[in-house]
Amino acid sequence: MIPFLDLGRQHAALHDELTAAAARVLGSARFVLGPEGEALEREVAALAGVAHAVGVGSGTDALRLALAAVGVGPGDEVITSAFSFVASASTILMAGATPVFADIDPATYTLDAAAVERAITRRTRAVVPVHLYGQAAGIDAIVAVARARGLAVVEDAAQAIGAAWRGRPVGGWGDAACLSFYPTKNLGACGDAGMVLTDRADVAERVRRLRHHGDGGRYRHVELGYCSRLDELQAALLRVKLRRLEAWTEARRAIAARYAALLDGAPVGLPVERPEARHVYHLYTVRHPQRDALARALADAGIGTAVHYPIAVPGQPMFAALVGAEGAGRRWPEAARAAREVLSIPCYPELTREEQDGVAAALRRACKEIG
Ligand SMILES: *Cc1c(COP(=O)(O)O)cnc(C)c1O
Repeated sequence: MIPFLDLGRQHAALHDELTAAAARVLGSARFVLGPEGEALEREVAALAGVAHAVGVGSGTDALRLALAAVGVGPGDEVITSAFSFVASASTILMAGATPVFADIDPATYTLDAAAVERAITRRTRAVVPVHLYGQAAGIDAIVAVARARGLAVVEDAAQAIGAAWRGRPVGGWGDAACLSFYPTKNLGACGDAGMVLTDRADVAERVRRLRHHGDGGRYRHVELGYCSRLDELQAALLRVKLRRLEAWTEARRAIAARYAALLDGAPVGLPVERPEARHVYHLYTVRHPQRDALARALADAGIGTAVHYPIAVPGQPMFAALVGAEGAGRRWPEAARAAREVLSIPCYPELTREEQDGVAAALRRACKEIG
C-alpha cells in the first residue's frame, strides 16, 4: 500500500523540534500578533523576495483580504481561472465582486493570457492567476495584459511557495499574492493559516488592518474588518518547517524527474514543466481519457490517488446562478476536459525510491489493463 499522502512521516521526523517550538509559545503566553508571527512574516518575505508579508488565518482569507486591499469591491468583475480549487473564485464573491472565468492553457492547466484579454470588460478590476499544482502561470504575459488595462493582479500562490518564473519567485509579480499553509500544502501548518505577500506598503497596511477588525490603532476602527490572524503557535511550528522547505522542494522535483524517466513513453499525459518555470510539484498530476478506470486500477494495486479537481470551477453548483444555463463545458472546454482527465499520484518528500518505482510500475500496468 502506498498512500496518496502521509503527513505522519514528516511529523515523526520533526516531532522533537515541533514540540519544543510549541512549548516555547506556551511558555511565552503570547498567542496572537507576537514575535513568532513577525519573524515568520520576515522569513517568508525574504524567501519570496517581497517587501511585505502579512500572516492571516488561511489562504482563503489571504485572497479575500488581498482583493479588498487592492480595491476590489461591489460592481467589479475579477477574471480568474476556470480550473482551480474553488477558493480562487469564491473569494472574489466574498470581496463583493463578480468572478469571470477564463479558460486554461491545456499543457500547464494555468490561466491563458489571451483568454484573460478576451474576458476583459469595462467593469474588470483585477485578475487572479493561479500557480496551479506548484507551477507558475505565464505570469509575465498576464501581468502585461493587466498593466496595459490598469487592472490589479492578485496571484493565487497557495500551491506554489518556492516556485519561480524566469528565475523570480512567484508572489512578487502582481500587486499582491496569497499563500496557504493548509496542512497538506508544501509548507503546512498544524491547522489553518495563510499569508499575503506584496511589495506595496499601502496594500500591506490595509491587510494588517482588515485582519484585525479594521483597527487603526488604540481601538479606533476605521473600516469594517475581520478577525483573521495567523496565531503564534502556528507561526512557531511553520518556522521549524520553513527551514526544511528548500530541501523538500528539491525532493519533490527529484521525484517528478524520476517519474518522468520511469513513465517515459507510457500512454498517459505527464506534467509539462515550462522552461521558464521552477515547478515545486505540490501535486504530480497526470492525465488520461479514462481517468476513473485508471484510478480504480491503481486503487486495486494499492496506490492512493486523488483528483484535483473533478469539477471545473464554473461548473460548481455554487456558481450555477452566475454562469447560467449554458453548460460550463462548452464555454470553458479545456477546464472541463481537465476535470474529466486529471489524476494526481503520490508525490511528497518522504516518498521512498522503492515507492516511486512501485507507483510508476503500477501506473504502466494500469494503463495496459484499461487499454
Ligand atoms: C489551498 C488553496 C486555497 C485556499 O487555502 P486555504 O488555506 O485552504 O484557505 C486557495 N487557492 C488554491 C489554489 C488552493 O490550493
